Amino acid sequence: MNTSAINNKKQQQINIKCPVCENTSFEEPIYKYSALEAAAHFCPPNRNSTRNQRLVKSIRKLWQGDECSIIRCPECGFAFGQPFIGGDEEFYSILHEQHGYPSWRWDYDVAVQNVISLLDKGKILDIGAGTGNFLKSLGNQWEKYAVEGSDTTRLELEKVGINVFPDLPTLVEAESGEFSVVTMFQVLEHISNFQEVLSQCRQLLTPGGLLLVTVPDGDAMILQEQLTGCPDMPPNHINKWTPKSLKIALEDVGFQTQAAIIEPPSWKNLAYSLQLKVIHDAAINPNSLAAKCYQVSNKRIRISLLSSLALSGFLQLFPHTNKLLQGESFAMISIAN
Ligand SMILES: [Zn+2]
Repeated sequence: MNTSAINNKKQQQINIKCPVCENTSFEEPIYKYSALEAAAHFCPPNRNSTRNQRLVKSIRKLWQGDECSIIRCPECGFAFGQPFIGGDEEFYSILHEQHGYPSWRWDYDVAVQNVISLLDKGKILDIGAGTGNFLKSLGNQWEKYAVEGSDTTRLELEKVGINVFPDLPTLVEAESGEFSVVTMFQVLEHISNFQEVLSQCRQLLTPGGLLLVTVPDGDAMILQEQLTGCPDMPPNHINKWTPKSLKIALEDVGFQTQAAIIEPPSWKNLAYSLQLKVIHDAAINPNSLAAKCYQVSNKRIRISLLSSLALSGFLQLFPHTNKLLQGESFAMISIAN
């Protein structure tokens, strides 16, 4: 490496500022991914080469290049992508061809037990509501709102009586200061403009209103990658949050935060890690047993083959069972000042 390259590198490090705590002192990136690696993670070329190629193109366009680094702030623990850019509509429309929305999840229970049960009624907004499974579970005393980017999903939400807005600024203009509750389940790890979004949540809430945010636990994601080899890949996830960094970000825009609620340990978490390990083995090596299993067209046979691979993964990861049982997300409730 010549001197000018070294100087450029130093310069680059000096110019980076933590988007949460504004620290400017960083060490080497914790991960570096190419667009080919990222696309293979979401859809290996041997599973669907056309979709894989579309993903490569879409990711290169987002990154304006071929590489993304993940940098971790030593002060607040927040880790983020460089370039700091999340997936756009085109990227997610390709991903959604193969993934659906979850029907229920642990953080919905957190919301019901720690927020909904405290209030009788009011206006509630779910940002990134998916098909509205959380809102649909609430009684009619709640006036339900959703912000959802996908056109198809918006139509489904409207059909079940949910007021849907395509974006937050439009809703802020129409209903500022009107909401008792805002929920944001697993959204904040996808977006770079989180300050703006949190500030808009603050504007939407009445004073004393509650915001519930849930995110993957950044440290748990890093541990999972170390153990399973499966990355928490940008541009889907471009932020790794810690309770400390989320607290700073929320307090910066006028919230009073409560202690983080950590997802409890469960076998589901371990099963998910094993699944990630099989997916990753298939993605990085087209000749692996895992990749061959994915090519089996009979679904029942495919699933039973993949299950036996997961079992062999379990034997390899057995010494780390306790770590893999740990929760992968946390929730934070905060009050609008
Ligand atoms: Zn920081």
